[in-house]
Amino acid sequence: MKVSQEILSMIPYRPGKPISETQREFGLDRVIKLASNENPLGPSPLAVAAIEKVLQTQHRYPDPTCFDLISVLSDRWQIPRQNIGVGNGSDEIIDLLIRIYCEPGESILTSQAAFAAYEVSAGAARVRVAKVALLPDYGIDLQGIAEYFLENVMNQKIRLIFIPNPNNPTGKFIPRRDVEKFIKTLGGRDDVLLVFDEAYNEFVRHSDYESVFTRVLSTRNLVLLKTFSKSFGLAGLRLGTIVAPSEVIDLFNRVRKPFNVNDLAQVAAAAALDDHEFIKKSQALTWESLDFFKAELTRMGLPWIPSEGNFLTFDTGRDAIKVYEALLRRGIILRPILNYGFTTHLRMSVGLMDENREAIKALEAVLQEIPKNNSPSGAEKIKAKIKVKIEGDRR
Ligand code: PMP
Repeated sequence: MKVSQEILSMIPYRPGKPISETQREFGLDRVIKLASNENPLGPSPLAVAAIEKVLQTQHRYPDPTCFDLISVLSDRWQIPRQNIGVGNGSDEIIDLLIRIYCEPGESILTSQAAFAAYEVSAGAARVRVAKVALLPDYGIDLQGIAEYFLENVMNQKIRLIFIPNPNNPTGKFIPRRDVEKFIKTLGGRDDVLLVFDEAYNEFVRHSDYESVFTRVLSTRNLVLLKTFSKSFGLAGLRLGTIVAPSEVIDLFNRVRKPFNVNDLAQVAAAAALDDHEFIKKSQALTWESLDFFKAELTRMGLPWIPSEGNFLTFDTGRDAIKVYEALLRRGIILRPILNYGFTTHLRMSVGLMDENREAIKALEAVLQEIPKNNSPSGAEKIKAKIKVKIEGDRR
């Protein structure tokens, strides 16, 4: 069968290695997974209680309109129903936005080392991806992205701009004034949607951060994505939300599958939204963990990228794959980020404090065994295979 070149050249998204697979492969009883930016506290207890109540009705199809959930979201966020959509994780929403707004051969625009799902979904839809290089401090160059758009919107047919804030895998946030300037420059246009992906915004402590939440309905082409996978601890249930102009939500509801969000996810998300105690606990643990990681990595002489997410990316100074594999043998799963072009960095999600301590202990032991960067490594070889195409390399 003939398959298009765009599909053949796609690199499958590699999620964090599952615990069960690691146990099987290495014959381990205990494995600590700090690889997928999950909530180490488990799901919101209010969500679990809500799920238990509806287990006996799972022979029914879920409500295809997600009426109750959207009512709760609308009430708590004070946003009209027609401006809210829900999807099977933010991943599905990203995928559908690209399918709705981009024809094959047209483009989306984002940053170098932005969350990988944008590129994966674009590839599947035969849509091109233009990327603007990161700033030297690994931050997203929002001004560069706006300039790139204005120069190339016509010739590259750029339809969507994806801005993860904070970004994954770097954890960097974009300062408020840069976001304001960006929206002032491109807000209100009718030829492009500005999609802000705020998966980690509950974890941001920096005073110079601001969500686009308050601007989303007053700016005609602004879209906000939020996930229930992180602070609410519902990654396994798959629930993402989109807040957007009603025309966008209308199109989204036309193309999504009728039962894209299952019943358990619907009731769990509605309950989790009111679980303020759990959110506070998640934030407190995340911040304690990040401060612990930063102090320990600094003590070990390993540079890290300041993160406002629930993870920290650091430079091992070595072939990251060798460090990753040595950690796996000790039952610690971190995340290599070669697919983003980082050959010596690993991303470490926050865990429970005893898991964090074990991970740091194992890392310290492993670094003694592996010499600092020497010969061409497995990481370099893999990097050569993964073409990191940066079209707007300006800063
Ligand atoms: N956006 C960003 C920036 C993410 O890091 C992630 C998850 N890793 C997502 C979106 C996807 O979230 P979901 O689980 O809702 O698909």
